[in-house]
Amino acid sequence: MEIRSRYAPSPTGLQHIGGVRTALFNYLFARSRGGKFILRVEDTDRTRFDPVYLRNLYDTLAWLGISWDEGPLVGGASAPYIQSERFGIYKDYARELLERGKAYRCFCSPERLNTIRAEREAAHSAETGYDRHCRAMSPDEGARRERAGEAYTVRLKIPLEGATLFHDRLLGDIEWKNSDISPDPVLLKSDGFPTYHLANVADDHLMGISHVLRAQEWVPSTPIHVILYQSFGWEPPEYCHLPLVMGLDGKKLSKRHGATSVDEFRRQGYLPEALLNFVALLGCSYDEERKSGIYTLEELAERFCLEKLNKAPAIFDYKKLEWYNGQYIRMKDNETLAALALPYAEEAGLFGPGRKAGPEERAAFTAAMALVKERVSFLREIPEKLDYLFAEPPPAGAEEFIPKKLDLAQTILLLRMGRALVPSLAELEDEAAEALVKKEAEAAGVKLGDLLMPLRVAITGRRVSPPLFGSLRILGAEGSLRRVDRSLAALNSAQTVS
Ligand code: GLU
Ligand code: ZN
Repeated sequence: MEIRSRYAPSPTGLQHIGGVRTALFNYLFARSRGGKFILRVEDTDRTRFDPVYLRNLYDTLAWLGISWDEGPLVGGASAPYIQSERFGIYKDYARELLERGKAYRCFCSPERLNTIRAEREAAHSAETGYDRHCRAMSPDEGARRERAGEAYTVRLKIPLEGATLFHDRLLGDIEWKNSDISPDPVLLKSDGFPTYHLANVADDHLMGISHVLRAQEWVPSTPIHVILYQSFGWEPPEYCHLPLVMGLDGKKLSKRHGATSVDEFRRQGYLPEALLNFVALLGCSYDEERKSGIYTLEELAERFCLEKLNKAPAIFDYKKLEWYNGQYIRMKDNETLAALALPYAEEAGLFGPGRKAGPEERAAFTAAMALVKERVSFLREIPEKLDYLFAEPPPAGAEEFIPKKLDLAQTILLLRMGRALVPSLAELEDEAAEALVKKEAEAAGVKLGDLLMPLRVAITGRRVSPPLFGSLRILGAEGSLRRVDRSLAALNSAQTVS
């Protein structure tokens, strides 16, 4: 049997983490089994549809690198893959169910349905849903009223007794009492548009979907779908409802916990590889062999299988995601990282308000990646760490320069000593630079840290900064000396005042 899985989102909102998890697991499942991954757009709800969301769907999957074998934009044997382009198909299937006696026409007006609801509420009745008023009508009578031009919906006959059984790969056998299923859900609306249930089942069947992996919130719909398959005389697919995703507080993941839309993560400077890696672990345990938990998409596809899914809810730990992002930032070479971070830097005005980087600034920015790579978790943090390289930092107060237990006069001497080293340091790699400074400090009988502190403040404007030697190399001897001299002048005048 060919393995065919699908992601079938409704474009009624921005793509969020839950959707991405469903898409990714279906993708990995198909890949792991040499099958096909299908994208299908379930846009039957025309009132909530917005083309913005459809574009967001395509953008998100492209950004993450999740590609589909069949679906919109790429086509396939079951095209079209957008439900609003398939409405004729669902009408035919609704008619087929009418002919088979598995569905019936309902002529109840919305007013009548509202009245029932209101009456039940007034009577504090436990009954909900449709009262099956039209189920007793003979098919001939129904057909006659249709011909007379009366509006109607098509409803599925849920068996009045017994139970519906299905097997879920994760949750096991599920038995659902038919009396607990919503009485006779609408399949086709009076405007001829299908509802989710009909379109979803017809398409899964027509598209040869072998496995349905979807969020657990869809479990209550599954008995309806199974009854639909039985009514058509079709074989249902295998079901696997994925574990819930929760925040650290054990509540369903929502905006209260933090970003949930992929756009938001993207804006914050998350890398797609990090997000994918993290999401792949939401409810699935791969081999323990790899403690780091770092996997490429290909590696995940090799390892994924339904047996590795966990029943327990998955916890969305933002800190963990942040950690992954830092790891993936560290894995990038300077050029790649610079290219990714540049838009954030330009947006933050690192090269001047509203300015784009020129060729020299771009080269400096690229070299500077080595200074920050180990220190950030987000692309967005990079510009603020490097601002001192692209504009002289605001002058630091004299006390900033002074190492612990020393005074201003000693500090000036130390900075002069440091100044003499700058031309060499600007040329040397870290190790050689370190050796040189050590030697000088020893020869002069001062502490290494005391020698470096005033120099660091002069160059970076702060006591805690990205690596000093790397900064000196990027600024060059000339630029560095200018900063040191400015600082020396300020310190000297502070000394005269005091
Ligand atoms: N269109 C449904 C959704 O928005 C699909 C659910 C399913 O996978 O059956 O998630
Ligand atoms: Zn009715």
